Amino acid sequence: MISIKMKKLVKNNSVIREMFEEGKRLEKIYGKENVYDFSLGNPSVPAPKEVNKAIIDIVNNEDPLVLHGYMSNSGYEDVREKIASSINKKYATNFSYKNLIMTVGAASGLNIVLKSILNPTDEVIVFAPYFSEYNNYIENYDGIVKVVNPNKETFEPNLIEFEEKINSKTKAVIINTPNNPTGIIYKEETIRKIASILEKKQNELKNSIYLISDEPYRELVYENIEVPYVTKYYNNTMIVYSYSKSLSLPGERIGYVVIPNELEDSSEMIDAVTIANRIIGSVNAPSLIQKVIANCLDVKTDIECYKKNRDLLYDIVKECGFDCVKPEGAFYLFVKSPIEDDKKFCNIAKEYNLLFVPGSSFSCSGYVRIAYCVSYEMIQRSQKAFQKLAMEKKWKLHN
Ligand code: PLP
Repeated sequence: MISIKMKKLVKNNSVIREMFEEGKRLEKIYGKENVYDFSLGNPSVPAPKEVNKAIIDIVNNEDPLVLHGYMSNSGYEDVREKIASSINKKYATNFSYKNLIMTVGAASGLNIVLKSILNPTDEVIVFAPYFSEYNNYIENYDGIVKVVNPNKETFEPNLIEFEEKINSKTKAVIINTPNNPTGIIYKEETIRKIASILEKKQNELKNSIYLISDEPYRELVYENIEVPYVTKYYNNTMIVYSYSKSLSLPGERIGYVVIPNELEDSSEMIDAVTIANRIIGSVNAPSLIQKVIANCLDVKTDIECYKKNRDLLYDIVKECGFDCVKPEGAFYLFVKSPIEDDKKFCNIAKEYNLLFVPGSSFSCSGYVRIAYCVSYEMIQRSQKAFQKLAMEKKWKLHN
């Protein structure tokens, strides 16, 4: 018999995955070209060719016993040193390999950080809308999720409510910018304010409160906007980074955590996160792909494709009369549902073979997430379906 905790998880299995399965079902009935699956955040731009070249070079040239062997739980030192130098060059920081732990993507990065800091019933604050897996990751370590309600005007965090939600049980805050599902990039001013609220509360409560910056979309930015490097604003920050989206490598499972020297008891935290990497069962990040990353630090994914997709889809959605904030990063549109019940809206959209994810899956009902990491041609083909959906009488009746 499975555990009580797992029973709940099995019951609430991800809506996003369900949509993906639904897409496959509809494709069998209507044909692939007539189904418009905007449900999954799977990159649609192939990994840069330098990645494949690096894989071949490394496999051909490295000692296989070293390449495929066990290693330090925090990953290869030379790889971490190269990544640290690259971060220092870009953001004028001062990290060494010791500040980095290679991880099995951001999912594992978040898990090992949360495992390292949470005692049962400790609270973690998240800003809605947010990536729903945070709930599972926090509950893995018996933490409690505290949600700050969405600011539906701008989707910047509601800082008044944030400050009110901080108390002596607050152990961490997770931010995600560029954001899944809104595509919004938090302004530098917002990061400064979050930092100053946290400083104030740490002093008042005499507790450490960690700011966890979840950054799989850092490189996916379409206008000339800088994404602030959060360790520079608040000492108790840990960065969780991933190459899943920036190099289109989600299946390879590679990322890292940055723990700065300025973080309280930094070396103890580095030890804890490293051990957590081992004991959650990841042991270490995949060895070959660590080496590959180190050879591809200056390589960039073709984000122009995503920008083109964003512009076309945004125009289609707006032309059809739907309401949406234009995203500046990531690869999602967060569109206001014309009826309050976003799940019902998704079901009606499905009748036109349009697959979206309800905003309630991101703790923000009344919206849907439309992922534009798809082919440009699919967006073009979907235009008619969007137009028909906009004319749909049924949802008008539901208002
Ligand atoms: N955080 C956010 C906000 C995400 O959207 C995702 C994946 O979609 C992850 C974390 C997990 O990323 P990874 O594939 O690196 O584990």
